[in-house]
Amino acid sequence: MPVLDENRLKEKLKKIRLVIFDVDGVLTDGRIIYNDEGQETKVFDVRDGHGIKLLARAGIESAILTARESKTVEHRAANLGIELVFQGMKNKAAGLEEILKIRPFKLDEIAYVGDDIIDLPVLKRVGLAVTVADAVNEVKERSDYITSRPGGRGAARELAELLLKAQSKWDDILSHYLS
Ligand SMILES: [Mg+2]
Repeated sequence: MPVLDENRLKEKLKKIRLVIFDVDGVLTDGRIIYNDEGQETKVFDVRDGHGIKLLARAGIESAILTARESKTVEHRAANLGIELVFQGMKNKAAGLEEILKIRPFKLDEIAYVGDDIIDLPVLKRVGLAVTVADAVNEVKERSDYITSRPGGRGAARELAELLLKAQSKWDDILSHYLS
């Protein structure tokens, strides 16, 4: 569900070179599973992961910026080839600054996907503020785009396709699979 009108949204999508993802509630459905030893597990979506890989193939980098810390996220990021992984960043704006030190993109070249109020400091700074269908209202009200899919269940994939289509890269990707 686009909050911006379609033309303005497309203008913003065309500029994006880096997508920063929150983890809990964005790349997962927000639930955390504890085993008997107290270790945390999260559930990720394979199609979301493929979307992130397709972005990379098209030259759009992804990063992870999360307030929590877990080995699961490290493994998932490695699996997806994500180099920029910032965990334990309770101050997300500071996390964004850390990312900018390594990849000095302009703010309008950056999209951020978050689902809770902790994400607002970054959402209001970047060029494209994205949230998920089941995000909190305070975030939905301040986002440029709300995915029709919920966090951890296709939201990242939806954004990936939206970006690739806006940047005219989707047909090339699809033809690769159809040849
Ligand atoms: Mg979250």
